Amino acid sequence: MSKYVFITGGVVSSLGKGITAGSIGALLKKRGLKVSILKIDPYLNVDAGTMNPFQHGEVFVTDDGAETDLDLGHYERFIDETLSEKNSITTGKIYSNVIRKERRGDYLGGTVQVIPHITNDIQERIIRAGNGLDVLIVEIGGTVGDIEGQPFLEAIRQMAVRAGRENVVYCHVTLIPYLEAAKELKTKPTQHSVQELRRIGILPNMLVCRTSHPMDIGMKNKIALFCDVPPEAVIEVRDEPTIYNVPISLHREGLDDLILKYLGLPSENEPDLSDWARVVDRYMNPPEEVKIALVGKYVQHKDAYLSVVEALHHGGIAHNVRVNIISVEAEDLEGSDVSEALKFADGILIPGGFGERGVEGMIAAAKYARENNVPLLGICLGMQMMVVEFARNVCKLHDAHSKEMNPATLHPVIHLMEEQENLRDLGGTMRLGAYPCDLVEGTKSAEAYGTLHISERHRHRYEFNNAYRERLESNGLKVAGVCTERDLVEIVELPGHIWYVGGQFHGELKSRPVRPHPLFDGFIKAASDYMREKQKEA
Ligand code: GLN
Repeated sequence: MSKYVFITGGVVSSLGKGITAGSIGALLKKRGLKVSILKIDPYLNVDAGTMNPFQHGEVFVTDDGAETDLDLGHYERFIDETLSEKNSITTGKIYSNVIRKERRGDYLGGTVQVIPHITNDIQERIIRAGNGLDVLIVEIGGTVGDIEGQPFLEAIRQMAVRAGRENVVYCHVTLIPYLEAAKELKTKPTQHSVQELRRIGILPNMLVCRTSHPMDIGMKNKIALFCDVPPEAVIEVRDEPTIYNVPISLHREGLDDLILKYLGLPSENEPDLSDWARVVDRYMNPPEEVKIALVGKYVQHKDAYLSVVEALHHGGIAHNVRVNIISVEAEDLEGSDVSEALKFADGILIPGGFGERGVEGMIAAAKYARENNVPLLGICLGMQMMVVEFARNVCKLHDAHSKEMNPATLHPVIHLMEEQENLRDLGGTMRLGAYPCDLVEGTKSAEAYGTLHISERHRHRYEFNNAYRERLESNGLKVAGVCTERDLVEIVELPGHIWYVGGQFHGELKSRPVRPHPLFDGFIKAASDYMREKQKEA
């Protein structure tokens, strides 16, 4: 059995538990341990697939096609490991499993209850996720005291019995608010949330304290006394200029040493954090800046394009430029002067999305980029709109009435696949998860990837319609990548253009701070070249 670090949150949500979990994972991995991270979401949705990006931010997709909470994206970026369906649990998943078993008669007539049936199911999933690892980090979503979180807290309390107290660490992430009027940091909310944990039998080993002001030693001692942890287990985390500095800060505060000590793991050799330091340095102090227009439809929600934003920054880190991302509401471009609205941009990114709203604005942005040789990267819906724009404005294809017509694009060049057609009433099924793709030699994509065989993650219903492939290609659009397994077009490019690449998949999901996704890397490089050209002309 693996050892466990359980992360709970107190006082308020949005304290950065996900970043804390990812950072702890990064630090333990740097110590040579085999680690992974499990996210528990106490909501009733079975997975995040049905969740609105306005409410919940991006849906992260794993190789095996699970639609998960965006924290899994943080985890993959921090620990540089590929996660799967078993790294994400929700109340919905647990209950539907237990109820299915009950209907099947698995409980042999017994009364099925939250304790032990739900809590056992939770524990089994935790143990399964930890199989073969040295340490599994488990983040419990929500805040201690939430009704929905209780079965999970009970389950992790029992885990100490099951795995042995010496194999389990409880880490509570909490807020130490600063009261302007009193000019003081306040510890009471933290005391109360720790009391809440103790009431259900969890004694936290360490407190990660989010604070806007420095905590002095007296404050740490006070928290330690009231919350029954040693003063060195009161870890201060101030707001950071970049999330990628969090592993460095937590290490400076001694968090990883403490965890290793509690878990009885060797901690002699210092972790080498030089690549994190380099990431932070290049993020903070680049000599130049590129401006990227993010022409999307969920731009008001800061997390709706989280992985896209991160992948753009990864490209910036690689090319030593600051990536200034300026959100442009796609809908606002409709019927407006697009060249005026986008003239600031050194590059344009059109991300994924669902539904009709905003697609005309995306098409207008793609046209502007194509005609003015501005770097353009299209992702999923973005790629589809590049194809529609090309079909309409270059091929002059105005096939308005086709049975294959996609209601979201009013054009049949992007259509539902045959096998999905009969599911149309249900909204079709999605192509989810990783698919192999073969690249065409001599294309920008092949050059960017440095290989001809790739695998990328998908989450969409519509596809490039092969019936139009010849017509589009004879007019100059280049198919640069194909999923040979299914004969599906995955990447389109425009030869001779500075960077006009659209991918049917979500490359951003596999980007890492030290290893940007090849298409984001190529895109930011093109945007940097474009920016320098523009400056020379000015
Ligand atoms: N709505 C489009 C489709 O279903 C694009 C999906 C996406 O961008 N993720 O194919």
